[in-house]
Amino acid sequence: TGISSATDSSLDGLRRDFTGEVFAPGDSAYDEARTVFNGMIDRRPAVVAQCASETDVARSVRFAREHGLEIAVRGGGHSVAGMSSTDGGLVVDLRRMNDVTVAPADQAARIGGGALIRDLDRATQAYGLATTGGRVSTTGVGGFVLGGGSGWLERSFGLACDNLVAAELVTADGSTVHASLDENPELFWALHGGGGNFGVVTSLTLNLYELPAMSYVMLLYRPEDGPEVMCAYRDLMASAPDGAGGAFLYFTAPPEDFVPEHLVLTLICAVLITWTGPPGEAADVARPALAIGHEAEVISGIPYPELQCMLDDPPGLRNYWSAEYLDSLPDEAVDLFCARAPDMPVPSNSQLALFPMGGAVARGPADHPLPWRAAPWAVHPFGAWESPSDDERGTQWVRRLRADVRPWSGGAVYLNFIGREGEARVVAGLGAENYARLAAVKATYDPDNVFHLNHNVEPASV
Ligand code: FAD
Repeated sequence: TGISSATDSSLDGLRRDFTGEVFAPGDSAYDEARTVFNGMIDRRPAVVAQCASETDVARSVRFAREHGLEIAVRGGGHSVAGMSSTDGGLVVDLRRMNDVTVAPADQAARIGGGALIRDLDRATQAYGLATTGGRVSTTGVGGFVLGGGSGWLERSFGLACDNLVAAELVTADGSTVHASLDENPELFWALHGGGGNFGVVTSLTLNLYELPAMSYVMLLYRPEDGPEVMCAYRDLMASAPDGAGGAFLYFTAPPEDFVPEHLVLTLICAVLITWTGPPGEAADVARPALAIGHEAEVISGIPYPELQCMLDDPPGLRNYWSAEYLDSLPDEAVDLFCARAPDMPVPSNSQLALFPMGGAVARGPADHPLPWRAAPWAVHPFGAWESPSDDERGTQWVRRLRADVRPWSGGAVYLNFIGREGEARVVAGLGAENYARLAAVKATYDPDNVFHLNHNVEPASV
């Protein structure tokens, strides 16, 4: 119904005085405008409103509501389930609203609702400042922060949402609302994990930290050595300083200089230690992993924005992922994790990751709607492949891995790491008590559930 109701003449009305640009089927840039990161998603919105201002956003929201169009909100377009697009509805596309303004004296950055992690990293790097970002540079800051925000620096600086100072939203009736500790504090609380449920975030402000140097250690091993390496990694991270981040990973060895030729395009496992200091210190942290026979090693300083690009994938691959947070990681769980790795499509851009939590994540505000903060480990099977013929194998691999490690999961899950897995998982991702509190906030700011293309919190009935 969307396409027929958004008639040409009414679209002309939206286009008038629109600072950004409005695309509809038939426009030459329409296909580019509707494309999202996950190549499995092929939605055809009636309207893609590429907003360039808060006024554009408000007009787009009102237009969609007047014409009965479902609204999707697009930041970086990385939602694995394609929640930033809609068939026949209107996409509030924020990609042009990507300004990042750094206030060095306040150690804070004001970030447009459609900025990408790379926009943030580049802007803050110029001042020797940084904050927790995602592990790739192309994710939208908006979706990332609103869902929690986990990255290499989290053990030092906390989750991205822990650094949220203020946000500006356009709500379901098209009005502008500010949220901070002093203004609409309940809404502000909800933005620390509650996602895009409460409105379109047109800008947000994050705390920044001094980050003079960054380094990393990357060690590659034969996949059959995985269990020994993973146990060593687990044990070394248990006592590592907060400045150490990184991952234990399985992936397809890329054709890069540091990869021995015989391993290229085969399954390997790797230890990655990221470190908020010089490479010699990173090597000290990595010592137990260095002591295990490995096939390749890189120990190097690296500017933070470059580290952030290290795992970047091109858009358009077929993505399917999930996650579990583990309360413990006994040898039995390690064995199951490693045994499942060869099931992933190889070669492909898939990764099987174990991320260490702890540090500032565990110490952060317990009050935020993120019940997994205290979990020491995140398991994240991240499937990304090219051919539809790998769909079955890839999705089964992700699902089975998730089931394998579930006995050690406390039940909570990080919603940014999963697609649509049903309402119970949304409640698990937020916590039942938090969910009820979020539902009350939702009833205040979006009583008609206009913003429902997300990990949806249904408005409490009043
Ligand atoms: P979009 O698809 O544009 O939006 C996703 C959801 O967020 C939608 O529901 C949308 O409505 C909402 N949203 C986005 N922007 C706004 C806004 N300004 N206002 C209101 N709602 C908004 N997450 C991590 O925490 N750490 C990682 O290391 C990490 N790595 C990733 C790597 C890759 C390759 C990918 C694809 C994702 C990764 N993620 C990671 C997950 C990522 O944080 C989520 O997918 C996040 O939702 C993406 O935000 P986006 O703006 O790019 O997505």
